[in-house]
Amino acid sequence: MTDQPARPADLPDRIHHYIGGVSVDSVDGSTFDVLDPVSNEVYARAAAGRAADVGRAVDAARVAFTDGPWPRMLPRERSRILHRIADLVESRDARLAELESFDSGLPITQALGQARRAAENFRFFADLVVAQADDTFKVPGRQINYVNRKPIGVAGLITPWNTPFMLESWKLAPALATGNTVVLKPAEFTPLSASLWAGIFEEAGLPRGVFNLVNGLGEEAGDALVKHPGVPLISFTGESSTGQVIFANAAPHLKGLSMELGGKSPAVVFADADLDAAIDATIFGVFSLNGERCTAGSRILVERAVYDEFVERYAAQAARVRVGYPHDPATEVGALVHPEHFAKVMSYVEIGKTEGRLVAGGGRPEGFETGNFVAPTVFADVPPSARIFQEEIFGPVVAITPFDTEEEALALANGVKYGLAAYVWTNDLKRAHTFSQAIEAGMVWLNSNNVRDLRTPFGGVKASGLGHEGGYRSIDFYTDQQAVHITLGKVHNPTFGKGA
Ligand code: NAD
Repeated sequence: MTDQPARPADLPDRIHHYIGGVSVDSVDGSTFDVLDPVSNEVYARAAAGRAADVGRAVDAARVAFTDGPWPRMLPRERSRILHRIADLVESRDARLAELESFDSGLPITQALGQARRAAENFRFFADLVVAQADDTFKVPGRQINYVNRKPIGVAGLITPWNTPFMLESWKLAPALATGNTVVLKPAEFTPLSASLWAGIFEEAGLPRGVFNLVNGLGEEAGDALVKHPGVPLISFTGESSTGQVIFANAAPHLKGLSMELGGKSPAVVFADADLDAAIDATIFGVFSLNGERCTAGSRILVERAVYDEFVERYAAQAARVRVGYPHDPATEVGALVHPEHFAKVMSYVEIGKTEGRLVAGGGRPEGFETGNFVAPTVFADVPPSARIFQEEIFGPVVAITPFDTEEEALALANGVKYGLAAYVWTNDLKRAHTFSQAIEAGMVWLNSNNVRDLRTPFGGVKASGLGHEGGYRSIDFYTDQQAVHITLGKVHNPTFGKGA
């Protein structure tokens, strides 16, 4: 084990809003405490935004939309700025990863991967908008109809604390690429990396007021953003229960909503699967990103013929997953984001002990008496009625359940309220497709861990979400497609009012 980490150099002790190109405090001066997850000590105070601050941010974004150059620039011009943003993020990846890892508890190597993915998101949408083609429909000799795609206005972006910087980029890049202006409300547990966007955007040449950021609690700043009549779009990633509240609050305004919500994704391992690959992938699938991953394969369903062998090998490998300080490059599982979340995950570990057979982990790892560390924890023989089978834990905890038939496996896979991702392990070609297509999940990986091409749809079904983003679907969400109809030749008017 390496030593406890030193704080990153030049760590700010104040984190501000960024409104109309200026760093500002809250109108009423209020702040909230920001902790690091290893010491759980307050290292900074962040401006706590409320309705007045959100109002100022929306006003700035509105002016940038109605009077500023951004929505009117050629896609190529916006694209150049987005590529510069990607270059800057890439060139600062080590610093970004250092701050992200310190603030969120993510292992440094994984935080670095997420920083690079953030750059890639900007690059991808920079390319996509210049390649964008819209439909034209011809009725020969009579009419031509075309789609006039337009940015919508001020997009409200509300993001969670797991991989915060990357998830912010996932919304910022398409919202900006399409010519909208934005107000971002990052998660209150992890405001540090978001504070770097302002400098990056300024250096890349993004016009003032196009990007605005308001920190604060969900129930205050997030709530005000959702209820603001000047924000026609909300893209939200977070818990399903928060999504329900936002859905209701947005209803009176009939806002456009994109919801990426929680998950309890199954990994289904058939007896004919490549067991070595399946074990490696399902270990990574639930313990990477500290298990704080929306698409984590947190339920593993295993065919009875290989069940005992799978459980034994899985538990042994899980026990070898290296828990460590987030800054240590050898660390595979770091510290959970916040003591409140740590308490929640630990409570599920205790519940699990009454619901399944504990075969690895089960509490704090040895040598970590403080900080939000949880040993990779594996429960076997978990019945589908168990809370640890049904509820999202969002930590390094996995439930393993046996099945006898394909029908039973499908019923188990679909027997939860969520439907985000699924992972299927089999070498039977026909079953691979029929089973994958029958799973109630927005995304299925077949003989694969979670590797995603940015062009593919991303989203969940059931309680896991509403709508899809990813590739052109993001472009569709952040734009209006106005249909323009033009008469060619003679006007074909039905004539009213010319009767006798
Ligand atoms: P959360 O719902 O508690 O918070 C998410 C964001 O919403 C935060 O910025 C928070 O301040 C804000 N918020 C909270 N209450 C609000 C309200 N009433 N109005 C407006 N905003 C409000 O989620 P979390 O704990 O930060 O993140 C973890 C959750 O996110 C998990 O459920 C996870 O599965 C989910 N998630 C989903 C995806 C996906 O793509 N489907 C990706 C990552 C995380």
